[in-house]
Parts: sequence; C-alpha cells; structure tokens
Amino acid sequence: MARLQHARVAMLVKKMFYGALLAAVLYGVILFAAMRDAAGREPPAAARGRARVSAIPQASARGRARAASISTAYDVCVVGAGLSGAVIAQQYASTLNKTVLVVEKRDHIGGNCYDYTDEETGIRVNRYGAHLFHTKHARVWRYVQAFATWVPYEHEVQALVDGKYVPVPVNIDSVNILFGLNISGPAQMRAWLHAEQRHLPAPPRNSEEVSLSRVGPRLYEKLFKPYTIKQWAKTPAQLGPEVMARIPVRTSHDARYFSDRWQALPAHGYTAFFENLLGDPRITVETGTDFFAVRGALRCGRTYFTGPVDAYFAHLGWPRLEYRSLTFAREVHAVPLYQPISVVNHPSPAVPYTRVVEYKHFLGQRSNKTVIFKEFSQDGGEPYYPVPSPANQALFAKYKAMADSHTNVSFVGRLANYKYFNMDESILNALELFDRDTGAGAGERAPRTSSDLVIAHCTEDLSWIPAWIAALHLSRVYVYTKCGAQVPRGSAVVRVTPLANKGREGQSWLHHLLRTDIVFADQSVFVQGSPEVTLAAVRRRLGSRGHRFIDFGTQSPSTYAFPGCVTSHSAIEGELRARYQEWKPPASNASFESIHCTLRGEFSVSRAAIQGFLRRHTRPRLERLKQETEAGNAPAITYVLERLWGVLFSSE
Ligand SMILES: Cc1cc2nc3c(=O)[nH]c(=O)nc-3n(C[C@H](O)[C@H](O)[C@H](O)COP(=O)(O)OP(=O)(O)OC[C@H]3O[C@@H](n4cnc5c(N)ncnc54)[C@H](O)[C@@H]3O)c2cc1C
Repeated sequence: MARLQHARVAMLVKKMFYGALLAAVLYGVILFAAMRDAAGREPPAAARGRARVSAIPQASARGRARAASISTAYDVCVVGAGLSGAVIAQQYASTLNKTVLVVEKRDHIGGNCYDYTDEETGIRVNRYGAHLFHTKHARVWRYVQAFATWVPYEHEVQALVDGKYVPVPVNIDSVNILFGLNISGPAQMRAWLHAEQRHLPAPPRNSEEVSLSRVGPRLYEKLFKPYTIKQWAKTPAQLGPEVMARIPVRTSHDARYFSDRWQALPAHGYTAFFENLLGDPRITVETGTDFFAVRGALRCGRTYFTGPVDAYFAHLGWPRLEYRSLTFAREVHAVPLYQPISVVNHPSPAVPYTRVVEYKHFLGQRSNKTVIFKEFSQDGGEPYYPVPSPANQALFAKYKAMADSHTNVSFVGRLANYKYFNMDESILNALELFDRDTGAGAGERAPRTSSDLVIAHCTEDLSWIPAWIAALHLSRVYVYTKCGAQVPRGSAVVRVTPLANKGREGQSWLHHLLRTDIVFADQSVFVQGSPEVTLAAVRRRLGSRGHRFIDFGTQSPSTYAFPGCVTSHSAIEGELRARYQEWKPPASNASFESIHCTLRGEFSVSRAAIQGFLRRHTRPRLERLKQETEAGNAPAITYVLERLWGVLFSSE
C-alpha cells in the first residue's frame, strides 16, 4: 500500500514536472505559431521581433490550451505531422471514428512537404526542397484525390555541364548536346551506349562499376561521378552498387524525370493538402511540441512514431544513424525567370551547390520577380537522406529489432524505417500499416467499399450530399454545375467543376468519363441535382454484388423498350434511330425496338464497365461526341445518350 502511495506521489510529481517543462517548451514556440496566418505565409523577420511582447498573454493562453489537449486521453497518438503521421491520423479518425492527437516538434504541419508563400515574391515555395508528386499506385492516387485538387504536371530536370543544359535522366538529346552527335532513334542510342559501356567480367562491386557498366567512362566522369561526390561526400567507388543500380538512361527523347502513370501537383499547395488530411474534427494537432518533452503527460491507446528511430532509443546509448542533409540559400532576382527550367543540377566541382530550384516554373506562377533556392549537401542538420553503407544498415537492423519488440508503438515513415521514401511510398506504407494494425485493409480492397458520386447540377439544392457521403461511404463527390450557382464545398471530398449549360446530363457524364486525372472508384453513381432515385434505393442496389451497370430507373420495370423512351421525342425518331446505329456496340444484335433504355441518366456503373467503355469507343471518338453535345446543335444525340447508357456500358 505504502509502495502504491509512493508511486502515486511520484507520478504526481512527474506530471507536475512535465507540466512545467511542457509550459516552458511551448512558451518559446507559440509566439511564432500564433503569428502564422492560415495560408502558410511566413511572417517577415521584422514582424517576428515586433510581435514578441504583445503576443505574450495570447501565447500563454494558447500554452494552457495546448497543455490541456496534451493531457487528454486519445485512442491514438501520432508523433510527427508529416505525410506518414497525417495519413495514419486521417485513417483512424475518419474510418474508425477514433480520437487522435498529433504532436509535431516543428512549428508547422506537412513534414518535409511543407510549403508556404514567399513574402517578397508571392511565389509558393517548399521549405525543405522541391516536392513533385508521382505514383504508379492506383490506391495512393485515389486516396490523395479526397484531399486536394491535383493538376497534372510532368517534371523535367536539366544539368548544367560544360556550359550546356542537358536533360536528366540522360536521353538521346543529352548525349547529342554533350558530345555533338546526331543520334536520332533508340537503335542508334543503344548502339552508342553499347560502345561506351565497360563490359565487366564480374557483377559490379560498387557504384563506380555500376555506372561504368551502364553509361561508360565519359558520361560517368562528366555527370555521375562529380554529382555523386557532391551529394554524398563519397566517391561512387566508396558506395555500394545498390546506390546507382537504378540510374535511368533512356534510349528515347523522353525528358520526363519520372515515368509513373500519375504525376501532379496540388493546385493549392501541399500545406493546404495537409490541412485537409488533418481536418477531421476528431484529430487534434499540436505543433511546436517535441514528443520527448511531453511523452510523460500523454495518455494514448496506441502510439505511431514517425521520427528518427535512433532518437526514440537514444537512452540505449547506441551510435546514431548517419544522414545527409541540405541547406538552402534563398535569392530573389528581379528578372522574369532565372533559369530555363524548374530544377537545374550542377555536377561541376567548381560550384558549391548541387542544384538550383526556381519555384516560379511550377504551375506557371506569376510575379514580377523570381525566387530561387540553391541547395548545398552536408552532413548534420535536418535528417534527409539515409547514408547507404553496410555499417548503417547493420546498426539500423539493431534498432529495428528493438522497435519490433515494442507492441504498443508502431514505427512508420522514412525516419523510423531509415529508408528514403517518395511521397507516394510514404502514403502507401502508412495505409498498409494501418490495414495491418486494424484489419481494415480488407475493406479497401473489397469491391463494394469504394464509390464515387457524380452529379449533374443546375440550380438544385445540394444539401442532401453529406447524408449520401456518410451513408454510402463515398470516396469522392464530383459536382458538374452548369447554371452558375454557387455550390457549397462542405466536405473535402466534394469536387466542383463548372461547365457550360449544354447537352443535358450527357455532357456532364462524358466530361467525367473523359477525365484523365482520376482513378474510377469500384462503383460510380451518376445522379441529377435532385435525384429521382432515393438514397435507400441506391444503397440497396449497390448491395447486390458483382454488377457492372445498374439502372436507377424509378418506374417499374426499369427496362423499357426504346420506343417507349421515344414517345416524347417522336419528332426526331428517325434521327434517334440513326444515332443508335452509330453508337450501339458493334457486336450487338439488339434492335432499336428492344434495347435497354435508361431514363433520366441515373445509374451506377462499375470501374470494369467504364474501362471497357473507354476501350471500345476510344477517346477521340468520345471527345467528338462531347463536342457535339456541347455544341448543342444536335438534340438527338443528347436524347440518345440520355437513354443509351446501358448499351454503351454493356460488356459486349
Ligand atoms: C529534399 C527532399 C526532396 C524530396 N522530394 C520529393 C519529391 O520530389 N517527390 C517525392 O515523392 N518525395 C520527395 N521527398 C520525400 C518526401 O519528403 C517524403 O516521402 C515524406 O516527407 C515522408 O514523410 P514522413 O512523414 O515519413 O517524414 P517527414 O516528412 O520527415 O515527417 C516526420 C515528422 O516528424 C516530426 N518529428 C520528428 N521527431 C519528432 C519528435 N520527437 N516530436 C514531434 N515530432 C517529431 C518531424 O518534425 C517531421 O515533421 C523529398 C525529400 C527530401 C528530403
């Protein structure tokens, strides 16, 4: 009993100590955080100093609020508001209805993806280096749609070598520019490479041998060797073969830096994307809060740690894992553009920086000046790139074994895994970990769980949308609005696209089906601004597994002979018949009199059926159809579309 009392007192003292410590830690960081405006704009340095005194009362109130939120019990605590932490938090809150606390030691959310508007030029920049989103994972691409509008963007990089700008990765043009050649096609390029390559008797033992066997000594000496030395402070001969094993060399003119299927930038920046990711009311975010300073006060059902794994186990006294870091030198230039492209690499040993990023190029930003950031590689500082050496890998294996033995803490993200992850890999890694820890993964993969809603809207009241989102667990809602009415956003999953008021709902559906920036959900539900079909009916019908196309026709029976559909348009029956012949699937024997007819164009269609539709009719053909509906001079086609959806999506 006495021991219990003693333990309680000790706990109380510990709590008071951590409370005081927390207040002290928080006090210093709150002033800065309080001044930051919601748009992620950095306060000018002078303003930071000025605000220090006047903001004190507000800061201490904020500090108390923060201490209160930290001492509250949460289902889940997440350390780090970077991509890994934000995805874990979002998944627990929004799919499992759990309360989540996110503590972040920096004064902002977003981790290394954080961006803000440069005060002097008005140009959006990344604080920790340019971030280009690219992925081949459909799950990731679909996931990010709910939290940002993504603008297709294919990144290109050039290197400045011997005073010439050459595409990176190396392609036909790089070689032609560097060596004054006239290679014109893949066969010639392959022959050139073959003549350059060193054909080694044994598998490469280090990155130098890898490079020589892939690109030969000339490209290696001009490009790869000096850049590697600047980046890693080691020669390629000192680095394992895996570091340069995948250097891409293209035998074409393709100048894209990435070859993933989806490449895009968030239209309103990464910080806004993170605000949406963390926007669930069940998530509490405390920035400027180091986990190690507050961990004694936290009450968490489960913890996800996205910081450096060696920092978590620092008390063991083991050696630290090595990282390479970067520093950034900002320069503003009063010129329209500083360099020909957003990112220029500088392999030359005569230049101290590794690359120069000019953010104005991204999404065509406007300003009468430009801002550039020169990047310098260094040891120490923010941990960016794990150093790939056998000693580090062996040490990480020890940390990992220790991490794996902690059952109530999961280690997630690039720092916890001591592995360079691209953004999409971080997202996938976090989603899969969430699946594993909660058994929720089966849901994501089940065909019934992902549904999009597509709405053709004019001026109708759309207040019914939130109820549908909740009841159908919708991934996204696409509203095509045609009459200039304002559509309330209300939810991060709603995407609004204004269209000209032409071509009835057929125009909206075609517009949607032809979009290249979305991955279609397992089911896409198409309805009007005031749906004639009820929510209950949609839910019931979606419950029937395995369908490709469901007509939500509200009359019974839902399949009509085509003439029944024609009645109200009998004046153009001849034209309707001709159009039907033009658009019916080639293999179909169905006559105009007997085909399925979809009234009001309200239906649900599976992803497989959409894919079949896009394959059968080809994009140029559908583009022509869309133009025709938009031109509005062929009413028959809009009426045909209104009725023909079942035929068009049929699997024949
Ligand atoms: C220079 C650079 C450029 C990049 N460019 C690209 C690109 O173009 N495309 C691409 O796909 N990927 C890019 N990446 C990778 C991308 O940044 C990562 O995939 C992503 O940031 C990983 O997210 P994360 O949450 O795992 O880690 P982080 O973003 O590092 O987040 C971890 C967070 O945990 C916080 N934290 C750590 N310790 C504590 C603690 N004790 N208490 C509280 N909080 C703590 C950190 O402050 C940080 O905010 C780039 C990375 C770098 C370094």
